[in-house]
Amino acid sequence: MAQIVQSCDSCDATVLAEVDQTVIDGDLRWYVSLRCPNCGSAVEFDDIGLPPDEIRESLIQCDGRWDLHLERMPGDAASISQVLRSALGWSLSDSLSRLKAGTVRIYSGTRVECEWLKVRLRDVAVSSKVVRSAVHA
Ligand SMILES: [Zn+2]
Repeated sequence: MAQIVQSCDSCDATVLAEVDQTVIDGDLRWYVSLRCPNCGSAVEFDDIGLPPDEIRESLIQCDGRWDLHLERMPGDAASISQVLRSALGWSLSDSLSRLKAGTVRIYSGTRVECEWLKVRLRDVAVSSKVVRSAVHA
């Protein structure tokens, strides 16, 4: 389980919080769960979308970095661009320039993020595959 260092809201002790990421009903979600060994206070929270950098880095350290590769260069850059923009908040020019550059690897991040994007791309009839990144985190 990936962990980040937090301080307890109640007593200020340093606590290791467990972090994870999942997909529920098509939404990418991340969550943090901590129980303070000092005062027993427990906190859980979660949110939708890409997690904060600290959590993402911890997930990547724990489970490795993963890439999403397009199976072949698509004719339909517009629909891929639309997915990247709505899923990741990329700008139109960012997503189009990445596709125009002929890059097969369109995303790099956690495995859950890559699997989530793969499904979103499949929804617009674009096939892709999730592979372990050759680039170490
Ligand atoms: Zn505490």
